[in-house]
Amino acid sequence: MALYITDECINCDVCEPECPNDAIYMGEEIYEIHAHLCTECVGHFDESQCTIVCPVECILVDVSNPESKDQLQLKYEGLMKQAANADTPNNKT
Ligand code: SF4
Ligand code: SF4
Repeated sequence: MALYITDECINCDVCEPECPNDAIYMGEEIYEIHAHLCTECVGHFDESQCTIVCPVECILVDVSNPESKDQLQLKYEGLMKQAANADTPNNKT
């Protein structure tokens, strides 16, 4: 399950740099999470880094978006592939 940020967020900026997938961004009023980029930190860490650092505990698991550990692992691998492709110069001849 991806995580989401509730409107209790105080925009303290602490979580954004902690996300290994760059899934957290400043939305119109508060920080938000791109669900397609959040792996619950699977592939990087044992625990969700954003929830550890949030001082007001406003980052919750989105139960409406269930994903198993295996699915999160595949999501992580897909993201890593995308990142590798983005880094590869287009040198096809
Ligand atoms: S759980 Fe991990 S991947 Fe998801 S938003 Fe938080 S820091 Fe990023
Ligand atoms: S750490 Fe929590 S309060 Fe701070 S910006 Fe992130 S979600 Fe908002």
